[in-house]
Amino acid sequence: MIRVRFAPSPTGYLHVGGARTALFNYLFARHYGGKLVLRVEDTDISRSTKEYEDQLMESLLWLGITWDEGPDVGGAFGPYRQSERGPIYREMIGDLLQRGQAYEVHAYPEEIEELHDKLLSEGKAPHYDQEMLEAFNTDERISEFESKGLRPVVFFKMPRKEYRLPDLIKGEVVFKEGAIGDFVIMRSNGQPIYNFAVVADDITMEISHVIRGDDHLSNTLRQLALYEAFGAPIPSFAHVSMILGPDGKKLSKRHGDTSVEQFRERGFLPEAFFNFLTLLGWSHPDGKEILNHEEIVESFSIERVNTSAAIFDEAKAKWMNGVYIRESDLERITDLAVPFIIQSKLMTAEDAVANRKWLKRAVDSVRKGVETLSEIPDKMRLYFEDPQVTFFTPSNDVEKGVYKALEAFKERVEYLDSWNNDEIIGTIRGILKDLKPDRKAFYMTLRKILTSVEEGPELVDIIFLLGRNKTLNRLQRAIN
Ligand code: GLU
Repeated sequence: MIRVRFAPSPTGYLHVGGARTALFNYLFARHYGGKLVLRVEDTDISRSTKEYEDQLMESLLWLGITWDEGPDVGGAFGPYRQSERGPIYREMIGDLLQRGQAYEVHAYPEEIEELHDKLLSEGKAPHYDQEMLEAFNTDERISEFESKGLRPVVFFKMPRKEYRLPDLIKGEVVFKEGAIGDFVIMRSNGQPIYNFAVVADDITMEISHVIRGDDHLSNTLRQLALYEAFGAPIPSFAHVSMILGPDGKKLSKRHGDTSVEQFRERGFLPEAFFNFLTLLGWSHPDGKEILNHEEIVESFSIERVNTSAAIFDEAKAKWMNGVYIRESDLERITDLAVPFIIQSKLMTAEDAVANRKWLKRAVDSVRKGVETLSEIPDKMRLYFEDPQVTFFTPSNDVEKGVYKALEAFKERVEYLDSWNNDEIIGTIRGILKDLKPDRKAFYMTLRKILTSVEEGPELVDIIFLLGRNKTLNRLQRAIN
C-alpha cells in the first residue's frame, strides 16, 4: 500500500515550497491509488499555533489538495498531531534505552555546550559518544536530578558506519562513516526532537514513501540509523530540489509573495496555481504546460521530477493565471471576481446579485486583459465612472467627418428599439455606410469619448454595458 505524508509545522502560512511538497505527495498518492496523511508537526510548542494549523489546511483545500487521514478527518493511525503522540514516543524511546541503543545523560544544557566547545578547541569534530556523555552520570548527579525533579536527556547511539540512501530523485546518496556523533532524541522536558519523532511517526503510520524538500537530506542520515535501530523497513525517499528565486537564491520573502494565501488574496485561481506549482520541478512527458487536475494526476511520476532546482517565475504564474481567467467557465470567474469587485466598492453585494447578468458580461468584457482577479475591478471602472470631459472640437476634415458621424450616432442610439448587440452593431455599420467618416478615427474617438482610454473592452461591449443613458450622457458631454 502506498502511504505518503505531508508533515507541516504549524508555525506560519503555507509557503509555496511547502505547498509544492504537499502537492507532489498528493499527486503521488492519487496517481497510485495510495493514501495521503496530513501530520501536524507541532512539537515546537512555542511557535506552533492552532490558527496556523487551520490556515495550513485551508490553503491546502483551497488549492484542491485533500488528504485521507489527518487531525481533522481522523484515521486508523492517529493521533495526527505530534503534540498528542507523546506516549508513542516515550514507549519507543523506552525500547531503545532497554536495548542499549540509546542512553540517558544527566547533564545541564550548558555542560553539553561546554563539551561541544572543548571538542572544537581540541581540533576534534564535535561528535559526542557514550563514554564522554555518561561521564556526567555520577551517582551524585543522578540523585540531584531526582531531587530537583529534572529529567535526563536521551541520546541515540549513532552507529559509526557508512549509510547509503537510494534516493528516488537524487540517486544514491552516501553518508560517510563517522559523519556525525551521538545525538539527542529526547530533551529533558520530555519533548522528542524532530529526527526522532518523524521516524517514530513514519514507522507507526506505515509510511511507504517520504517525499520532501532536499533541505531535509542531512537529517536523513540520523533517520536511517533510527529505522535501523527499530528494525523497521526503510521507506523510499524522494528529496525534491529547492525552489529558488530568479536570482538563484533560495526563495524567500525578499523575492516577494511566497505564501499560498498571498497569491489567493491577489486573485490567483486555485486551479491555475495548482498547475503552476506542479511545474515547479516536474514536467509533463509531452512538455504540455496548461494541464487540468485530472491530467496532472494521471501523468505524474517521480521519474519526471527534476534533479535541479526549480526557479519561481512569478511572471509565468501570472501568465498562466491569465490563461485560466480567460478560458474558465464565465459563471465561475464571475463568482470569484465578485469579492474583489465588492472590495473595490464598485458594487455592493446586493447589486452584484441583482445585476448578475450585466456583471457576467462586464467581467467577460475585461477578462481578456487581466492576469489576476484583483485587476478586474480596475478594468471595469470605466462602466461606473464618467470619463473626464473633453470637448471634441474638430480641427480638420477627418475630424469634421467624425463629428458629424458622432452626432448621427447619438441620435440613432436615442431612438433604438431595443438594446442589444445586433442593434448596436447595426447602428455603427449604418453610420459608417451613410456618412462615411474615417473608420479608424470614428472608432477611436467614440471609444475615447465613452471611456477616455484608447484600449480596453470591445466597443460594442462598452456601449451595451454602459446602457443607453450613460452612452448618451457621455456623448452629450463631448459633442454638445
Ligand atoms: N515538519 C517538517 C517541515 O515542516 C517536515 C518533516 C518531513 O517531511 O520529514 O519541514
